[in-house]
Amino acid sequence: MDNGIKDMHYDALIIGAGFSGLYQLHRLRDDLGLDTAIIEQGKGVGGTWYWNRYPGARCDSESQGYAYFFSKKIHEEWQWSERYPCHSEIRQYLNYVADNLNLKKDIFFGSKVYRCTFLTEQNLWRIQTEQNESFFAKWLITAVGCLSSTNVPKIAGLSSFKGTWYHTGQWPHEGVNFKGRKVGQIGTGSTGIQAAPVIAQECEHLTVFQRTANYSIPARNAPWDDAYSKWVKNHFRELKSLVKSTPSGHPFRISNDLTMEVSENERRSLLNDAWLKGGLRFRGVFNDLLTSSKANQQAAKFIKSKIQEKVSNPETAKVLTDIDHPYAAKRPPIDTNYFETFNRDNVALVDLKDNPISEIFPNGIRLQSGIEHELDAIVFATGFDAMTGPLVKLNIAGTEGNLRNYWRNGPMNYLGLSIPSFPNLFMITGPGSPSVLSNMPVSIEQHVDWITECIRYCADKKIDSIEADEDAAKDWTTHVDEIANTTLLPKVKHSWYL
Ligand code: NAP
Repeated sequence: MDNGIKDMHYDALIIGAGFSGLYQLHRLRDDLGLDTAIIEQGKGVGGTWYWNRYPGARCDSESQGYAYFFSKKIHEEWQWSERYPCHSEIRQYLNYVADNLNLKKDIFFGSKVYRCTFLTEQNLWRIQTEQNESFFAKWLITAVGCLSSTNVPKIAGLSSFKGTWYHTGQWPHEGVNFKGRKVGQIGTGSTGIQAAPVIAQECEHLTVFQRTANYSIPARNAPWDDAYSKWVKNHFRELKSLVKSTPSGHPFRISNDLTMEVSENERRSLLNDAWLKGGLRFRGVFNDLLTSSKANQQAAKFIKSKIQEKVSNPETAKVLTDIDHPYAAKRPPIDTNYFETFNRDNVALVDLKDNPISEIFPNGIRLQSGIEHELDAIVFATGFDAMTGPLVKLNIAGTEGNLRNYWRNGPMNYLGLSIPSFPNLFMITGPGSPSVLSNMPVSIEQHVDWITECIRYCADKKIDSIEADEDAAKDWTTHVDEIANTTLLPKVKHSWYL
């Protein structure tokens, strides 16, 4: 009987066509010769960058490192234009790679996976989509990213709002015109810090609702000049070796200096130099900023003094510098004129710390104290159901049941790659791997190469099924926790890192 469901059989299936999925397709199809396809919800390639098109959206990794390093040819042919690539330039790059490697013919665009089931007797994964497709494959690889499941906080009354609301991670492709509108932005993480200065320039009035004050370092973005572009093209080997040998995968080294072992003058001067260099490089100025509270306090004090210098209203500066966590214990944002934006006449800061949002009413946002802010538009820069969110949403069922249930006490797995009782399933940059603590494309290449070689090994040795050993997964997860506990990362109230 024709029930309208289309069955399709492959050797390997990949979910997601961002940096990780594209490279995985290339390796499995072109190096191992496997019949492979990608299933992708979006209508184009890009992954997180397909959806994140909010004003000011730009990568915090520097262009010369935020790229693939598996192909010298791609490196030499592609031309980045600025220190940090903006969202559209990253999409152009990924489209260029996909076209160059002829990947798009093996991508099912506009197909949203709602269930993945391991069929034990057939030793196959069945992947079902909302578009009535049923895919079958021996190998299943999730390339869904760590930050793709958007978080719109459950605030009472949102459905009654008469204006329009947007989440930065689901930005309308045609853009949004804020001209003449009163905009409220909730959230001051990396995204909100990028978006506010751009929205402020366009709208009639911007109100930024801040729950937790945040550090930010000036990005100091600038166009590349011809000499630098040429240098990057000519130094493939050196750049590759650099990103593959630094702990963060970024194209710069982290200092060996310890904060308290240099004199006060030298410390100030090093911090100042790092501030002038800008961006994530600032975090590498000392080796112990994330392991020593005393060291971290020095950096925190320095950054707060810089924020105070930038913001003219002392009350606003106080709210912006009332930061309750160590520097970089949350993902450290970098910005272009974020703090300066609060000097504009059309921008206001609302401190939610002791006066949270109570509800959204038809004309705006009401705080617990009863104060009302009238708005025409609300921008949720409120982040993601990070790390596990995109995976559990796939409704993956292994030999012992559903992943959501298996991970009810935390995402136990091995190397962030493989989960016990989920045979022949691999995650690219899953929880418990360096992933978001690093420059993502570098960690992605490492995982894709590992998965490819593991599948090659299974084929060579005629192994039909492979999964993580439960003891190994427990040991790995404990090891990750032990390492995290030697850092300041757990000393944060709200952090998607945790
Ligand atoms: P985020 O870091 O999770 O920040 C979310 C913000 O929303 C925080 O300020 C949070 O406050 C606030 N918030 C959440 N729920 C709220 C509520 N109910 N009421 C009031 N405030 C609320 O999310 P993000 O800024 O989207 O960044 C996520 C990650 O995406 C980044 O850390 C980064 O890794 C990545 N990203 C990268 C780039 C880039 O490379 N350029 C750019 C943007 C984002 P609390 O702090 O109090 O929780």
